[in-house]
Amino acid sequence: MAINIRSEEQIELMRKAGKVVSEAFQLLESEIRPGIGTNMLNEAAERFIKSSGAIPSFFGYRGFPSSICISVNEQVIHGIPGLRKLRNGDIVSIDIGVYLNGFHADAARTFAVGDISDEDKRLIEVTKQSFFEGIKFAKANNHLSDVSSSIQQYVESNGFSVVRDYVGHGIGRNLHEDPAIPNYETKSRGPKLMRGMVLAIEPMVNAGTYEISVLDDKWTVITGDGKKSAHYENTVVITDDEPELLTL
Ligand code: MG
Repeated sequence: MAINIRSEEQIELMRKAGKVVSEAFQLLESEIRPGIGTNMLNEAAERFIKSSGAIPSFFGYRGFPSSICISVNEQVIHGIPGLRKLRNGDIVSIDIGVYLNGFHADAARTFAVGDISDEDKRLIEVTKQSFFEGIKFAKANNHLSDVSSSIQQYVESNGFSVVRDYVGHGIGRNLHEDPAIPNYETKSRGPKLMRGMVLAIEPMVNAGTYEISVLDDKWTVITGDGKKSAHYENTVVITDDEPELLTL
């Protein structure tokens, strides 16, 4: 498995892509409310990304029809924006990828729409915190599985489950590069982390079991049991010390 090591110059370019991603999230966060259509959010993000001189990474990726992914409630990832309007009590996961100056950055967040239940708040919070538990181990000379296991442990100790069928990924000139980054323990310790690796670490957390299925649109991933799901992701640079988050 060849994992790319990025130079400081390349990382500087990725910082710029990451900044567009985080600014797009700030914009969308202010727009999310009951009644807004998911296609409105997609258009707002697309306009912003293009006005920044960048390209939405997901548009046309293996034929994906929109600029960003919007997944509501029991939808896990890869939801396609459309006519659906968000309702009070929904949770909405948004995944944004940006391509700028030859490099991608990728991040995801789950937001509350209006007033949500305490259990849904906990799902969103545990998902976000599981990322931060994972990246405590994201430094040079640790192994990738140190990150994966700590994400899984935190999620399961809170009574939720991590999705198995989709994983995080290296990122750089391509949206998806080696290594695959599971959010659960595997038999292998995984590759040793090295300074200059850039990883999209992205726990997908289900309130119920980890089983998923894919809708007839061939994209939208939903939970098998119909319970809700949350997602949290940042593009992370491995250093000898604390990792750098490019999309926060
Ligand atoms: Mg990703």
